[in-house]
Amino acid sequence: MDDCIFCKIIKGEIPSRKVYEDASTFAFLDINPANPGHTLVVSKKHYAELVDITDTDLKDVIINIKKIAKNLKDNMGAQGLNLLQNNGKMAGQIVHHIHFHVIPRFPNDSIMLALPRKNITDQEMDEIQKKMTVQEKKNPQLDWDY
Ligand code: AMP
Ligand code: ZN
Repeated sequence: MDDCIFCKIIKGEIPSRKVYEDASTFAFLDINPANPGHTLVVSKKHYAELVDITDTDLKDVIINIKKIAKNLKDNMGAQGLNLLQNNGKMAGQIVHHIHFHVIPRFPNDSIMLALPRKNITDQEMDEIQKKMTVQEKKNPQLDWDY
C-alpha cells in the first residue's frame, strides 16, 4: 500500500523507534503513548483489519506480541498489560494497517478501559448466540475460508 504510514515505517521510509523485527512482524513504540513502553505490533504484510490477515501471519504476530509483553514486564516493570486492536473507523481505527497496541500498566496510571455495559434480554441473547456460533475448523492447517 503506497499511502500507508505503517508500510512506510516497515520499509524504513519513515523513522520509527523499532523494538522488534523478523520476517513477519515489525514492532515499534507508539509516537503518542498511553504509557511509557506502549508498543504497536504490526504484520509486515499490509492487511487492513483482523478479518483480512491470514491465520499464518496472525499466529506469527501474536507469538511476537508475547515477546513484547514479556519485555515490558521484565524490562519496563509493567505490572499488567492491555492488548488493544481496533478494527474499522467505527471502532476507532485510525491507521488501516492491522496493528496491536500492547499497553503496559502501572499503578495509578489513570488509564480508564472500563466499558459501559448493555442490558440484553435472555431472548435476545439466545438469538445473538445463534448468529454468533462458529463451526470448528475442519483442517487446522488451513486458513479460514471467509
Ligand atoms: P489506531 O487508532 O488503533 O489506528 O491507532 C493508531 C496508532 O498509531 C495511534 O496510537 C498513533 O499514536 C500511532 N501512530 C501514528 N503514526 C505513528 C508513527 N509515525 N509512529 C508511531 N506511532 C504512530
Ligand atoms: Zn500498510
